[in-house]
Amino acid sequence: MMAARSTPPATPSPLRATAGGTVAARSRVARTLRRWFDASTVMNFEESRADRIDWLRAAPFVAMHLACLGVIWVGVSPVALSVAGALYALRMFAITGFYHRYFSHRTFQTSRSVQFVFAVIGASCVQRGPLWWAAHHRQHHRAADTSADPHSPRERGFLWSHVGWFLTPRNFRTDLARVPDLAKYPELRWLDRFDIAVPVALAVGLYALGVLLHHVAPQLGTDGGQMLVWGFFVSTIVLFHATVTINSLAHRFGKRRYATKDDSRNNLWLALLTFGEGWHNNHHFFPGSSRQGFRWWEVDVTWYGLKLMARLGLVRGLKPVPAWVLARAGS
Ligand SMILES: [Zn+2]
Ligand SMILES: [Zn+2]
Repeated sequence: MMAARSTPPATPSPLRATAGGTVAARSRVARTLRRWFDASTVMNFEESRADRIDWLRAAPFVAMHLACLGVIWVGVSPVALSVAGALYALRMFAITGFYHRYFSHRTFQTSRSVQFVFAVIGASCVQRGPLWWAAHHRQHHRAADTSADPHSPRERGFLWSHVGWFLTPRNFRTDLARVPDLAKYPELRWLDRFDIAVPVALAVGLYALGVLLHHVAPQLGTDGGQMLVWGFFVSTIVLFHATVTINSLAHRFGKRRYATKDDSRNNLWLALLTFGEGWHNNHHFFPGSSRQGFRWWEVDVTWYGLKLMARLGLVRGLKPVPAWVLARAGS
């Protein structure tokens, strides 16, 4: 027996469809804005848009670049340049020594407090939280220069590998399954979720420092705006572009000592800029070492910093380059 047919669903009126569409668009915008502050915001996206830049979410990143033009109005002083340089150096070390060699590759051990301090300094770089960074980097090594690599210049070109990939919906989320060893720390999960908190605090702190110096030491010739533009915006943007040269340029330009499956290269200039990360072909061949410059002349400032920290008792168990890896390195 056939079941009685129910009344067919009413066709939505164009007006209702438009209203529904507007509501959906509004909630999409609201969710995107929430992602500026809360990285745990659920992100539903259509597969066709997964690899397109989400410009609304990327707006603060674009704005930070434009804010660097503020140097035209705020002027410059030795103290502002020194703070910008010092913050570049400290934060580059946090990215290379901790986000990369510690959180991503676990090439040494440290205490929970030192781990947290460097996770906070790393988060101040506006390169997302430590779990997000490590999860994507582990995937990079697992699938370097294949279609499953989040940022391969071989697969998708220079701009994608340098600035495109992390602004897309596909790469927004932190895949905790890739970092279970880090996800067990609630403080790291919190930092990863609210990754924007630290950079905002740094920016406010630098502005306040500038205001203070303007009043107590006017001979230094600085103020809040100058300290904010040089210390935060310029320093952070230069640091960002230096860091991501390893994804883009270090897979294109330089020498290949080891015949790895990927396109990684060793490049002295990038090693100087990034405190040792430019020995990227070495690193892809043997990612398990705390050291990336394998020869004495391969300058690796991060390695020197980690050695110093080990001497001070702040880190331990630095993993050296094994003899068989060195033997394969040749000269
Ligand atoms: Zn690589
Ligand atoms: Zn790595």
